[in-house]
Amino acid sequence: MTLSVPAGVIERYLEFLPFADGAPDLTIGEGGTPLVRAPVLEDRTGIREVWLKLEGCNPTGSFKDRGMVVAVAKALEADARALICASTGNTAAAAAAYGARAGVMTVCVVPHGSTAAGKLAQTRMFGARVVAVTGTFDHALTIVRQLAERDGVILVNSVNPHRLEGQKTAAFEIVDALGDAPDELYLPVGNAGNIAAYWRGFVGYREAGRATQTPVLRGFQAEGAAPMVLGHPIDDPVTQASAIRIGNPANWEEAAAACDASDGSIEAVPEAAMADAYRLLAQEMGVFVESASAAGVAGLLQRRAGGSASPERVVCVLTGSGLKDPDTALRESDDPIAAPPDLDAVTRVLGWSD
Ligand SMILES: *Cc1c(COP(=O)(O)O)cnc(C)c1O
Repeated sequence: MTLSVPAGVIERYLEFLPFADGAPDLTIGEGGTPLVRAPVLEDRTGIREVWLKLEGCNPTGSFKDRGMVVAVAKALEADARALICASTGNTAAAAAAYGARAGVMTVCVVPHGSTAAGKLAQTRMFGARVVAVTGTFDHALTIVRQLAERDGVILVNSVNPHRLEGQKTAAFEIVDALGDAPDELYLPVGNAGNIAAYWRGFVGYREAGRATQTPVLRGFQAEGAAPMVLGHPIDDPVTQASAIRIGNPANWEEAAAACDASDGSIEAVPEAAMADAYRLLAQEMGVFVESASAAGVAGLLQRRAGGSASPERVVCVLTGSGLKDPDTALRESDDPIAAPPDLDAVTRVLGWSD
């Protein structure tokens, strides 16, 4: 008897992906992430079903792996010499991992000093060449777009069309698990690739007869980094959530069109609401996400508090793992209580003495 192993997203969803005659055999086990109910959020919102899609359970700890496996497989088909990306961290980690797996050199250009420790640790450990520029993500993206004009250098940012093709598999998994698309989908928006990719996935599945409906898309940007809400790019995006600290989203047009087609919205959430949702997910649901990932849940709570009409079934996409950014977690949680190594002292500091 052979043990069945979970295939990656290319093998499972090949018919929906851009491989005409078979795909390179590339996977680190991406996709197949848990979809779990959130009774705490159902109680708070009055919505019948609230589901959480735990994308932090992907191999490098974010949804970026879904798109990266497809982009790197296509790069292999094209005999790539090097992969290159600009990144606030998670794209770099995913590119470096799949580059290592595929045996292709990876170059990551990151904004100096604003990459979370876990993401930088992964990227370096996977063996990527990391360049830290004294500028923003948007500067880094401008530079790598130009470097990618060289022969054999493949840009793997979400402007690479294969990234979004891979990322749409998350929508397939949600429909496969629930039997149909949810009424609404809540998620954070940075470069706006993921929201566009989900739309491609839901529409693709409906057209293939696998779903009867598509969800209303509800995207959320941090208040200080909300170009799509303001309607124009911003030079100096500010938010603690570095994964969505983006002033000029690369996929703006497709995302805005997707949002309109779904009858949805892109809204801003205050920093404090994201921090509250970040703690709520961990402390009442046992789900540790990075702070950007909490934007969708913050947005859900904000919309319900504003008295919006109640959908029956919603999914919140939790885009990345809390382990990516230990510094924020340590800042937002209680310090350990210091005590000498004896029973009485520990009992006392716990307040358990009679
Ligand atoms: C990339 C990323 C986002 C933003 O996704 P976009 O496709 O850029 O909108 C949100 N959360 C996490 C954890 C990410 O890594």
